[in-house]
Amino acid sequence: MQEERKSRVQSQQQKKQQQTKLLVLILVVVLIGACAVLFLHGAGESETPEDVVPPGETVDADTTSDAGGTEPEIIIPVVSEEDSWKTVLVNSSHALADGYVPELVTVDNTSFKFDARAAEDLNTMLQDARTEGLAPMICSSYRAWERQTALFEKQVAKQQATGLSYEEAYEKAKSVVAYPGTSEHQTGLATDIVATSHQLLDDSQAETAEQQWLMENCWKYGFILRYPLGKSEYTGIIYEPWHYRYVGKEVAQYITENDLCLEEYWQLVENQQAQ
Ligand SMILES: [Zn+2]
Repeated sequence: MQEERKSRVQSQQQKKQQQTKLLVLILVVVLIGACAVLFLHGAGESETPEDVVPPGETVDADTTSDAGGTEPEIIIPVVSEEDSWKTVLVNSSHALADGYVPELVTVDNTSFKFDARAAEDLNTMLQDARTEGLAPMICSSYRAWERQTALFEKQVAKQQATGLSYEEAYEKAKSVVAYPGTSEHQTGLATDIVATSHQLLDDSQAETAEQQWLMENCWKYGFILRYPLGKSEYTGIIYEPWHYRYVGKEVAQYITENDLCLEEYWQLVENQQAQ
């Protein structure tokens, strides 16, 4: 009798154990299923990031069109008041404040001077280019007022020597050499960089490995190629594949990704501020 009872208890225990095993199995299956769903969902998201814009993707710069407020608003990065020195516009119609002289430091391994606030980025850019096996060389950077004035006067004299009157020579000189106060080199934020193996300041400079690396990477260090190909109507300056200008990393990236020159950037900023 006792034996029979014992076996019944054992059988009940076995049944209970089997039920528990089944329950555990169901739980495991459900958990695996849930994990798989979460994993697939997560993987799907990482394949289609919504907030990453591929490099080179352009933003429609035509802010004058009236889209009726249905198009997403384009936000042009504008530096703070404190950083306004970075994006200063200097060209034939935007002269520097009279007598403006930034705090200057000497660029590593050269005798050239650059704005102290941007020199570290310039040094890093040149160093990284050298690490890539390239040999970039600065051939001009900060230019003092006196130097720009001397260059301009020399050009006037050169033009007068061709038989032009002083007034004619003066006007002609303005198209060749920046009038004092209107040269970017006076900001301390512009530098002419050439390949050590090819120092000509003409279009052929663009073919050097040094320029190709600089043109592709300079924005990462806060620089732009200031007078790019096809932008002379805005800049008033011929294509200069050697003249780099510091504008800070955020604005350099925006200008590069949207294929702008500094004049176009400023036009967009003004349009944005007028809205
Ligand atoms: Zn230059």
